[in-house]
This record gives sequence, structure tokens and C-alpha cells, in this order.
Amino acid sequence: MDVIWPWIQSNLLSFVAVFTTLILLYHYLIEKGTGVRLSKRYRSSIFETQSKIFLNATQYLISGNKDLAIKEFLNAVDLNRETIDTYFALGGLFRSNGEIEKAISIHRSLIARENINETTRVRALRELALDFDKGGFIDKAIETYQDVLKINRDQEEVILALCRIYEDIEDWESAHKYRMMLSKVGKKNQAETISHILVQKAKAFFETGNFKKATEELEEAFRFAPSVSAKILRLKLFIIKGSLEEAKSLFLELLREHPMYAAFIFVSLDEKFKAEQKIVDEYKQRLSHLRDYFLKIEGDDFLNSPAVILSKVRLLKDLKKPQDAFGILKRWMEGHHSSSEILKIEYIKLLIDLGDTKAAVNETQSLLENLHQSLTRHYCNECGFNSDNIFWRCPQCHEWETIQFRWKV
Ligand SMILES: [Zn+2]
Repeated sequence: MDVIWPWIQSNLLSFVAVFTTLILLYHYLIEKGTGVRLSKRYRSSIFETQSKIFLNATQYLISGNKDLAIKEFLNAVDLNRETIDTYFALGGLFRSNGEIEKAISIHRSLIARENINETTRVRALRELALDFDKGGFIDKAIETYQDVLKINRDQEEVILALCRIYEDIEDWESAHKYRMMLSKVGKKNQAETISHILVQKAKAFFETGNFKKATEELEEAFRFAPSVSAKILRLKLFIIKGSLEEAKSLFLELLREHPMYAAFIFVSLDEKFKAEQKIVDEYKQRLSHLRDYFLKIEGDDFLNSPAVILSKVRLLKDLKKPQDAFGILKRWMEGHHSSSEILKIEYIKLLIDLGDTKAAVNETQSLLENLHQSLTRHYCNECGFNSDNIFWRCPQCHEWETIQFRWKV
């Protein structure tokens, strides 16, 4: 799929051209068969012109000249106004060429026609929604996709398009509604994604200090799937409630299951929220207690994973304790010779902070010899999207919880 799909995309226009030519050829043969009263000579000349137009259009497409291809197609529409598929091909061409307004007017004129069947009208409506979507007219795209669903509810692609839009604009209420609809229409299990969306809903309540509603939505999310982000939010709610023992054991559970999320956990716990000052202060106090607890625990295997060490080092640096950070990192590096690049970089930074320039230069040299990868902190293991920020939903491929730490072991 990885190789074939982009190839199909880049050659899509050529396919459309060839396909349309075949349709016109088919129509020509049908008309020939039913004996439309045109002189043979006239019919042949139309066919000849059409063939020439599509041959030209195809050549323009292959050579990448979409503007001229569209011009040739327009000529063909003048010749044979009843050929609906030509209109669709043309509309699609305009859209892929970025001429959204022309695409819109073609699809609108199709919808307005009286002599078309319902399948064609729904198809035109769907194309119109795609035009609005691609053109960035979000409200109109939503409205038009919804119109398509009013006529036919079983349109998986349309529902999925609505899901994507609502997730993009972070309207979690509607995103939830359409995911539920999708889980009924489509074959793919949506439980994980629904859980993520409900966590986002709960998070929005949390941020405004509505902890009761946040708890309710979160419990609903757990009913679908226990995602990492759901557990982190539950951890925050434990801290709000002051249930520190429960918070500690959930924290350890998270580290054991997903040691690589250690750094994210603290970043998430540090996120700001609106509430009475007293609640915010208590939260901060309990959080610093949890942080101290984390910095002290040792022993278990999972506590020696690079991600856990890295987040300890970063926390200690934030707390202005570079000496302690260095101690932890040095001990770890001595025990693990196949160390990660990220940890090595932290090590060099600490050596510089602590004034040991000679050791810093030596370590930098050995690092540079082995440095091959790009140095963003995170990437998506689905599509390879790179970022230093944390993303629970990949901005590129829209998958959930595909984020990975970048390191070399
Ligand atoms: Zn991705």
C-alpha cells in the first residue's frame, strides 16, 4: 500500500482521462446501435473530435499540465452535454487543481438538474462537500456532508470525513456522535478512538474546573477502552481528590505498562487548569510530593528504562539540581553501554553545565560518530511525522497514540 497509493494518487488524473474516454466511446457505440438519426459522416466526425480532445487531454495530464487538460475537457462538455460522467471528471479535475469555485459550480449545476437519478444526485452532493472541505469552507462542508447523510445514512466515507473535521476543530461532542455512527456503519472497531474522544471531552471539563463532569466522562471513556491518556487524566483526578495512595499506585502501573510515556506523564500533570486558588495550590503541593516520590524510587527493572531515567534527569534539571541529574545519568551510562543518543545528549549538556569541558568534547566526538537519525524528540510510528511536541492524535495521519520517543538503543 505504501508504494502503490501515492503512485495511484499522482496518476489519478490520467486514469480519469482514460476512463472518461472509454465512457464516451461506449456512449458513441450505444448511439450508433440505437440509430440516432445523424448521418454517418457527422457521427464519425464527432467521434474523431472527441477522440482527439481526450487524446490531447491525456497527453497534457501525463506531462503534468492540468490547465490545458481542463480546457480540453471543457471542449468535450460542449460537444456532449448529457454525459454526466464527463462533468464529474471535470469537477474532480478542477478540485485537484485547486480551482475550488469552478468545481463547486459544476457540482451545483449537476445537483440542480431535474433529469438525474438519486444516486447521481447524492454523488454530486458528496463531491460538492469534498470541494468545500478541500477549499477550507468547514461550515459548508459539514452542512453538505450532513445533507448527504439525510438521503443515505450508510455512507462510511462521509461519516469518516465528518469525524475528521470535528476532531480537527476539537468539537468533541459532535466527534463522539459521528464516531458512534461510524461504529454502526463500518466494520472497523471504534472503541479505542471513542475512548480517546471521551478523554478529550473529560479533559475540557477538567480544564475549566468541572471535576464532577470530568470524572463522569472519563468513566464513560474507560468503558470503551483504557487508553494511556485516560489513565493520566484519572491520575490527575486522584491528585485533585487528594487520594495520594491511589495516585501513586496508578502512577507505578502507568510506568510499568508504558515506561516510554514517563516524560509525558509529568508534562500532562503540569498542564494548567482553571479552579479556585485553594484547589490549584493543593494540586501543586500534592504533585510535588508525587514528583519527590518518583525521584526516590529505584530497584524494579522498569524504573531503569531509558525513558524513566530521561524524565528523572529532566525533572532534576528543572528543579535546578544538575549535580543530582548528573549522578543518576552517570550511574546509568556506566551500567548500560549501548546507550541512547538522547541520553548521551543530556549527559553532554550536563557536563557543560557542570564545567567539565574536556569530558564534554570527548563525549560529543563519540556521539557525532554514531549520529545518524534526525533529532526530533518524538515521531509517529504510523506515518513518521516528526515533532518535539506531544501529540496524542497525530496531526498528519490522524491516528491516536502512535507517538514514539526517538532513540537508538
Ligand atoms: Zn501519524
